[in-house]
Amino acid sequence: MDFPIDTQIIDLNQPGGTKLHLAGVIRESIVDGPGWRMVVFVQGCPHHCKGCQNPATWSFTEGGYDTTVENIVKAAKENPLLKGITLSGGEPFTQAKALTVLARELKKEGLDVMSFSGWTYEELINGANSENCWLDLLRELSLLVDGKFIEEQRSLECLFRGSKNQRIIDVQKSLAAGKTVLSELN
Ligand code: SF4
Repeated sequence: MDFPIDTQIIDLNQPGGTKLHLAGVIRESIVDGPGWRMVVFVQGCPHHCKGCQNPATWSFTEGGYDTTVENIVKAAKENPLLKGITLSGGEPFTQAKALTVLARELKKEGLDVMSFSGWTYEELINGANSENCWLDLLRELSLLVDGKFIEEQRSLECLFRGSKNQRIIDVQKSLAAGKTVLSELN
């Protein structure tokens, strides 16, 4: 399948562009992506997967706390061991605009950025528009772990994933090829 590619770029000076609503942050993890990573859990998820381990992150109106891109970048810079940041949730793509700003700032610091999403890569590409900024965030990612958690396909053997339907997508190769390219980590 060929994907439409637009050229939407976020205006970094846009008011409110750096506010984030998070469920929490893990400062160091070795199970949420390659190498030592900080994990940023956003608050709010529309997918409501049966068997989800983080149902407290579902609500968009209750729970979580406000912070800023600048606070997360500062926290990341304090740890020289970090290889990168993993965006998790909740559903990161519901805050794609602010997370794109975050990803750009982290990449300036030499950090790799990957994300989980309950949407598939194809759903994100085909649903991307100038308001949701999904394509902008994808452009900043190395890897995307995609798809809902399906309890019937739950597996402890899948690297970084909870169920067998989920895939590890090489996002940069996928964008360049105009089709979904799986990472060698699958
Ligand atoms: S996408 Fe993730 S956070 Fe959202 S309901 Fe599914 S497993 Fe839970």
